[in-house]
Amino acid sequence: MNGLVRNALQMSHDYARQLIQPGDRVIDATCGNGGDTQFLAELVGPDGHVDGFDIQAQALAKTRERLEKAGLAERCSLHQASHHTMADLLEPGVRCVLFNLGYLPGGDHAIGTRPETTLPALQAAVDLVTVGGAVLICLYYGGDSGFAEHQAVLDWISDLPVHRFAVQKSELANAKSCPPIFICCEKLA
Ligand code: SAM
Repeated sequence: MNGLVRNALQMSHDYARQLIQPGDRVIDATCGNGGDTQFLAELVGPDGHVDGFDIQAQALAKTRERLEKAGLAERCSLHQASHHTMADLLEPGVRCVLFNLGYLPGGDHAIGTRPETTLPALQAAVDLVTVGGAVLICLYYGGDSGFAEHQAVLDWISDLPVHRFAVQKSELANAKSCPPIFICCEKLA
């Protein structure tokens, strides 16, 4: 990759590469078309596991097809459920939870992530993550995504206790219209 500056998605992948070790358990909170799920499945290796969530059957079908083609399906469990239910289904000790918020590319823009479920999902994620692990967020806003989730997520991260979490936020400062934001919530204690 050329240059130093990364967009939000690239930053989330850079951080995931540094964080995730073979054998880890991780979560893709928003499978969509499965690009991130496949990426995480490659990082955890044959002894690791990825739990993936999406509310749309269409998204999970694409994700499943992609994982099967790549020979990675056996190390992934896909859940057609809202990500705010993740703590009902999974045990703590997860290394990384990735949220790629917004709507399904190529799908219905009205079925995007929403603050009513995103905030409880983020809380569940920081509870499930192990010390030394992190919740990684790509936050899209403006256009069909609107601004409500953007503001709710920024408020939520600013309230995380500083002795338990190091929170980093990165965005392109000179972009002219609503550049996606990358957020890393690293669990310290
Ligand atoms: N990671 C994806 C990829 O690699 O293609 C892109 C994700 S897309 C920006 C956001 C996804 O979040 C959509 O597929 C949408 O259906 C899903 N979504 C919306 N609300 C959700 C919820 N409450 N729980 C889980 N997924 C949700």
